[in-house]
Amino acid sequence: MRSAYVQRQREEHGRKSIVVLPVHYPKEILTAMDVLAVELWGPPGAPRGPEAGRLQAYVCAVVRNALAFLAGGHADVVDAALFPHTCDSVQGLATLVTDFGGWSKPSFVFQHPKGPTRASVRKYLVAELRSLADGLATLTGRPLDVAELRAAIRLHRTIDEVKTRILEGRGRLATSDRELYATLRRGEWLWPEEHLEELRVLERQLPEAGAPARKGVPLFVTGYVPEPMSILDALDEVGAYVARDDWAAIGRRVVTPARALDLEGDPFETLAALYYEAPQCPTRSLDQAGRLQRLLALYDQSGARGVIVHEPKFCEPEAFDVPAIRKAFGERGVPLLYLETELETELAGQTTTRLEAFVEMVGARRVA
Ligand code: SF4
Repeated sequence: MRSAYVQRQREEHGRKSIVVLPVHYPKEILTAMDVLAVELWGPPGAPRGPEAGRLQAYVCAVVRNALAFLAGGHADVVDAALFPHTCDSVQGLATLVTDFGGWSKPSFVFQHPKGPTRASVRKYLVAELRSLADGLATLTGRPLDVAELRAAIRLHRTIDEVKTRILEGRGRLATSDRELYATLRRGEWLWPEEHLEELRVLERQLPEAGAPARKGVPLFVTGYVPEPMSILDALDEVGAYVARDDWAAIGRRVVTPARALDLEGDPFETLAALYYEAPQCPTRSLDQAGRLQRLLALYDQSGARGVIVHEPKFCEPEAFDVPAIRKAFGERGVPLLYLETELETELAGQTTTRLEAFVEMVGARRVA
């Protein structure tokens, strides 16, 4: 379906497309340059080719599957690839896809900084953003227009505002988790204006106020990506729902700036400001204390009764924060379930059993 969509975008709008590895990248620049981003979170399931075997078994499935997918020609419909500086594995992949995977199309990197902001780091970030725009200009054949970048920033700000209202009002939305997250995840590959239209449809279903429409045990989830998506069905079946999330692919990428942004000045500076306003993510920032503070605040606001920490196996950046997350919620007596999943297409039966036991325990506490 994505291939057909990419093809249509090319035929109907003359748009180039680029496959993007997780997690953080300045999508606004791609939108401004009329380039469709198609994110590649694996994909889930068995690797689609033997090249996954070129990586050690302890490399995460996101990267192993991506190597097999790209090497197997499954992304050949796009015009280029973009590798953000997410972790050593994604960085390594940028080289491996050409060395071992036969990837011959243009590759771009976005080497975002990781530490706290300082004048020198911010200057570096702005230079990196400009460098990406210059690189993409070689793909599109025309330089970035700053007015178009300002417009793209406004568009993505609107998308994040709508997403924020949906996620904050999630309990009042009768939609199932599966439907909700399917719509949110379509933003990984839809043209942003189309994604915004779909989000607005969802938002219109959100009552302004009132009692929660969702029945069941509300849970808070922090983790990487809601894969397999059947985890959402499993939660539904055992009588729970996601009241708020901090999945890196979803809630953690929604930016709600604490201060007003300058939307009329240098748009690269605006993007740099946005970068430092984004929620703390272990793939992007080292601010663990700030992250814990945010997670606890989100938990409190959501009305959740328990926490699920949902991580892919062998993900170093995410694993780094897990002990601190356990400790922070443990000190408050919040029930927590740690789930480590492969990038399978269906949730393992054993995991479903653990979810069921956890929800039962949390539900019992609630009525006690
Ligand atoms: S799952 Fe973790 S290790 Fe794998 S690509 Fe994502 S951030 Fe990197």
